Amino acid sequence: MRYISTRGSAPTLTFEEAMLTGLARDGGLYVPDTVPTLTASQIADMAGKSYEDVAFTVMRPFIGDTFTDEEFKRLIAQAYSGFGHAARAPLVQLDSNHYLLELFHGPTLAFKDFAMQLIGQMFQAALSRSGERITIVGATSGDTGSAAIEAFRGLEAVDVFIMYPHGRVSEVQRRQMTTPSESNVHALAVDGDFDDCQAAVKDMFNDFAFREEVKLAGVNSINWGRVLAQVVYYFTAAVSLGAPHREISFTVPTGNFGDIFAGYIAKQMGLPIADLVVATNRNDILHRTLQTGAYTKEGVEPTISPSMDIQVSSNFERALFDAYGRDGAAVGGQMDDLKQGGFQISQGAYQYLQDQFKSGRASEEETSAAITRYFRQHGELLCPHTAVGVHVAEAHLGHTPMVTLATAHPAKFPDAVKAASGVAAPLPPRMADLYDRSERLTRVANDLSAIQSLIKERIAH
Ligand SMILES: *Cc1c(COP(=O)(O)O)cnc(C)c1O
Repeated sequence: MRYISTRGSAPTLTFEEAMLTGLARDGGLYVPDTVPTLTASQIADMAGKSYEDVAFTVMRPFIGDTFTDEEFKRLIAQAYSGFGHAARAPLVQLDSNHYLLELFHGPTLAFKDFAMQLIGQMFQAALSRSGERITIVGATSGDTGSAAIEAFRGLEAVDVFIMYPHGRVSEVQRRQMTTPSESNVHALAVDGDFDDCQAAVKDMFNDFAFREEVKLAGVNSINWGRVLAQVVYYFTAAVSLGAPHREISFTVPTGNFGDIFAGYIAKQMGLPIADLVVATNRNDILHRTLQTGAYTKEGVEPTISPSMDIQVSSNFERALFDAYGRDGAAVGGQMDDLKQGGFQISQGAYQYLQDQFKSGRASEEETSAAITRYFRQHGELLCPHTAVGVHVAEAHLGHTPMVTLATAHPAKFPDAVKAASGVAAPLPPRMADLYDRSERLTRVANDLSAIQSLIKERIAH
């Protein structure tokens, strides 16, 4: 299995190289050159198996000889051992034909743990073989940073620096980043907003001397290893509900298009998925694109579902690549136009995307109303991102079972949940002392060279 860039002009890589590299050198994203398929009987055999066993079957064809079977099984087992639910991704029934897939039983209470915990293990295993050390630098508006810190804390071959906008993440998110005590964890509170943090990361990757000196690596949502780990729970959920003998639909609260793209890969692998529904909040660039064929940037407006407040949805490029018949030059051209504010998708490519994805959006009022309604009528407390999903899913319910992905635990967004439901969602018992643990963080100015010096100084020890 080789990995190719969506812009067609970067070298092809192995799984290990693609995972450690992140962004391709031509600015594109890595995708497998062909998507392996599973037969209906292989899918049927997943019934009743553990999450870990299904994970091995689904991911094994993608990893080539990066890990032996034994090693890969061990990494998967370690990745999910810290989850607070034996099923890892349990299903809950909301209505006669509507289910919730709870993806928030990991250590930081959001679905990003599924991918981040596994790539933490895979990075450590690959690096300890080569004896290399790397420096992970990431920007976060909350969930990605806490998941990365939790996944890499204490790993020998890695230092992890996470920049977050000072004063602009929720208290739970901040504490998840600042309370781990391991010396390889560095939480940097930047005097700026999320875009400043993200711009600083991008500048560091473009500073090739620095990139080489500190052995910079990224774990943002474009990393293929992250997408791959997310394919697994589409299989466990669909098989629980009768796949491959019946079709299942999914609604996915979407920001960077990573999670829904994993569902698209599951479908390509042979999982009988009827609808894949993109659910956005009022930052609805993806919904508008799927409705009109025009991808045009607008300003980002803050919402109560902040992990979906984005303007440029990076993983969408992977879907575009397939929509354009895997023509990297065509994708590169569209991405150049994006710098000018947007692009029009060609008729054939637009038709392809419309065949693959449905979409909907939820306003702030609709999101809060969904939290209220599902608490009163179904006894379920939803996080605001999940509430966007169930609101959109309702418009797509039919004869096919619908699974909405519950992307975070309600306790991670206590203010919005309390305002809509009247109750405070308690933290799970295993992290009930989060508010008592001591915090450790470094305040930094929004100054690239100062941040770079700090990183160099820290990793020297
Ligand atoms: C990251 C995140 C999303 C969006 O996921 P994408 O893969 O970026 O589309 C949705 N909900 C929550 C809680 C998240 O943390």
